[in-house]
Amino acid sequence: MHETISDASCKASKGRKVKYIKPTSFDCDARTFRFIEEKWAVSISTTGKRLTASIRASSYHRGKLKGQKPTSAKVCLHRDGNWYVHIQLKSEAPKTQKTSNVIGVDFGRRDIAVTSTGQSWSGKEIKETRDKFSRVRASLQRRASQGTRSTRRRARKILKRLSGRERRYQSWLNHNISKAIITEAKETQSFVSVEDLTGIRDRTNQKPRSKTERRRSNSWAFFQLRTFLEYKGIKEGVEVIAINPAYTSQSCHCCLHIGLRSNKSFKCSNVKCGWIGDADDNGSKMIALVGLSVNQPRGSELLACPIDSRATKSPHHIVRA
Ligand SMILES: [Zn+2]
Repeated sequence: MHETISDASCKASKGRKVKYIKPTSFDCDARTFRFIEEKWAVSISTTGKRLTASIRASSYHRGKLKGQKPTSAKVCLHRDGNWYVHIQLKSEAPKTQKTSNVIGVDFGRRDIAVTSTGQSWSGKEIKETRDKFSRVRASLQRRASQGTRSTRRRARKILKRLSGRERRYQSWLNHNISKAIITEAKETQSFVSVEDLTGIRDRTNQKPRSKTERRRSNSWAFFQLRTFLEYKGIKEGVEVIAINPAYTSQSCHCCLHIGLRSNKSFKCSNVKCGWIGDADDNGSKMIALVGLSVNQPRGSELLACPIDSRATKSPHHIVRA
């Protein structure tokens, strides 16, 4: 049996004997794991003997398992003290088609996500919900360290109950957002272009800001949202590409010139263009454009200002999204 060593137990200093290894999970393959459909049970070989346990699962999961022959699984120890078996199923992903339709998605602080097709998830309501979580947590933490013994105990108990609630809210919302985007992409036969956000924290943290502001900007799970988009994309045959976000929020989507961005609005500084509008809307359209240029078989075509070279045409013809 293979045991995963948890992080906490790896911290033993050099030379000292490790006291114990806390088992958290182990992987099973075709030899050590078997799914018995007739009995709705799994058979796992452990160090001692072979263990057979019946499956307690929802009808949704039973439907997924029906007729399958899974050959690998992971046995995990949950926080609640029970052991759970994660059964891995393989399925064929639909092939992605080359397409020139694109949906650009702008991740932001004011709005969680804005698409170039006009869908948006406003940050306001989300901000209020999360501020509430934060307020409750702060007050409980104060009580858990001060006050009488029984108050402290009660506060700790409530904190434990609430832990994970904000995280679950966040992933619930990320599931919703990614599902809506992928569904639209599938219906319109588009691919999805997102920003490669490695480093969004550095970018948004450049200016000195208050503690509350920092908490808000740092803690949205954009990485999770991108991961959800990518795996749902694979499932539905929608391609999701990540582009370099440099200048996407400062460039004008009509003429590619650098413009002025002030909080909510964007103003193009090119006198021939002069586009004015919503900054996030412009950002998502820029992301769509960059994605399109990256994803074309011919290679990049974002070379020069289309207004200068094709002055007679309307600048809006290049926005295909
Ligand atoms: Zn412009």
